[in-house]
Amino acid sequence: MTISVWILGDQLTINHPALEAALHHGKQSDVRVLMIESESRVRRKNYAAKKLILLFSAMRHYAEALRQDGYDIDYHIADDMTAALKAHVEAYHPSLLIVMAASRYEGLAFQESLENILQIPIKIIPNTLFLSCRYDPFPDIDKGKSIRQEQFYRRMRQYFNLLMDQNGKPTSGQWNFDKKNRSSFDGEVEIPSLVSFEPDQITVDVIDEVLEKFPWTQRPEKFDLAVTHQEAQKAADDFFEHRLKYFGTYEDAMTQADDVLFHSKLSPYLNLGLLDPLTLVKRVQAMYRDGAVSLNNTEGFIRQVIGWREYMHWQYWRLMPELADANYFDSHRPLPEFFWTGETEMNCLKHALGRSLEDGYLHHIERLMLISNFCLLAGVAPQAVLDWFQSLFIDAYDWVMLSNVLGMSMYADGGMIGTKPYISSANYINKMSDYCQDCPYDHKLRTGEDACPFNFLYWNFLLQQEELLRENPRMARMLYNLKYLDEEERDAVKESAKRFLRL
Ligand SMILES: Cc1cc2nc3c(=O)[nH]c(=O)nc-3n(C[C@H](O)[C@H](O)[C@H](O)COP(=O)(O)OP(=O)(O)OC[C@H]3O[C@@H](n4cnc5c(N)ncnc54)[C@H](O)[C@@H]3O)c2cc1C
Ligand code: SF4
Repeated sequence: MTISVWILGDQLTINHPALEAALHHGKQSDVRVLMIESESRVRRKNYAAKKLILLFSAMRHYAEALRQDGYDIDYHIADDMTAALKAHVEAYHPSLLIVMAASRYEGLAFQESLENILQIPIKIIPNTLFLSCRYDPFPDIDKGKSIRQEQFYRRMRQYFNLLMDQNGKPTSGQWNFDKKNRSSFDGEVEIPSLVSFEPDQITVDVIDEVLEKFPWTQRPEKFDLAVTHQEAQKAADDFFEHRLKYFGTYEDAMTQADDVLFHSKLSPYLNLGLLDPLTLVKRVQAMYRDGAVSLNNTEGFIRQVIGWREYMHWQYWRLMPELADANYFDSHRPLPEFFWTGETEMNCLKHALGRSLEDGYLHHIERLMLISNFCLLAGVAPQAVLDWFQSLFIDAYDWVMLSNVLGMSMYADGGMIGTKPYISSANYINKMSDYCQDCPYDHKLRTGEDACPFNFLYWNFLLQQEELLRENPRMARMLYNLKYLDEEERDAVKESAKRFLRL
């Protein structure tokens, strides 16, 4: 008798629940673990080398660890997912195939069609990698009703008993420390360097294969990401020891000097299943209780993980499939060519694009207030922005990309996820970063050749989208300022935007 367990590439968790389920049906020697690297899936986009290396190397290390635990592994490097599944069934004739539900909408639909395709019984077990699959804070909510992140987050804190007092109130009586967590960075604290990992033979082989098979990829300057549970845990330890103490304080800050600052850079590992979100936040809570880290930094991190991360996952499943095609502002401009080269005079974007192209990572505010702020103001099609992020970013998966890019950042969902469009002129970027001081554009000028493009694009966007924006009461203050623009100034704004966008 064979019981097959198909483990997906973003489900590399310790004690995989599908393996546990299989052991209820038979002995370990009856279990065959199937893993598939599907090349046709990879060819659908121009994925960056680093992203592919991370995924394939982590999968191969995971397979190796299971092998050492005594599991029989059927590992396919295949052109096509369905063909690999069929080949597995033909080779082993399993009486049952168990799989954990995919994190992707189309992935789950495919799993649900497998019984027909493979003509064997399929068992899909719930995806336990997300806390919102273990507890749904709003199970019966109407699809059209908006649930804000703060409402969601508070219920998650209560249910998982994180930073809660015994009387059911939040620790210290406060849910939110955002006011303490908005400092810009002026170099007063040293930024610790990140722990890095030397590629082993498995990773070296993956690097060579990726470069050979996918001709658009380029050899990354270095590959030093974690690819095993032990390494991912070391990356987490490094964050807890060196950066957590300023995590919240500088969470919104941006600097030319560093791309990570005091962020964790743990999203790639969380999203692959190499780290467990609940274990991380419990550890941070314990550090707070031991007096090792202050409340604003502790709460800031817990909010990101059980608030934002889980909220985005919950919203993805709630809003799909409509979310994929959403385009509230009806924006259709293609992505500027310089997004693929990093060659622009705009200093903030030059840094952010360069980091994205080389490392596939930016921290949250650079993703939101530089890259997508620019794209939203410039009227770029939301799906083109999504495509760019998906191709380059090492932590990009559909559940997190669609909700963050189409929902939160591009406001393509009309405000189901974000409370208002995240747009700003150069003023915000100048306040939160040191980019403007070294930029050929003038962050104070609104129009003209030397004016910062964020400025005229911002005002142009308000003018172009005024009618739709007026539907959102939270935009009232921004729109109020339009009254200070006379006709001449409005024409100048439109002219500058037109010239820049080459309309
Ligand atoms: C345009 C845009 C695209 C994004 N694309 C992705 C993506 O492809 N993959 C991804 O994991 N995150 C994405 N995010 C969310 C967030 O920016 C990243 O999770 C975060 O920057 C990862 O870096 P970090 O691990 O250093 O995060 P930290 O700042 O250290 O935060 C800790 C953890 O909180 C979680 N988190 C925080 N905010 C979010 C959020 N909005 N959504 C989901 N998780 C969150 C992440 O798991 C992160 O590792 C995107 C945000 C925006 C605005
Ligand atoms: S002036 Fe404008 S383009 Fe230049 S760094 Fe500042 S915000 Fe960016």
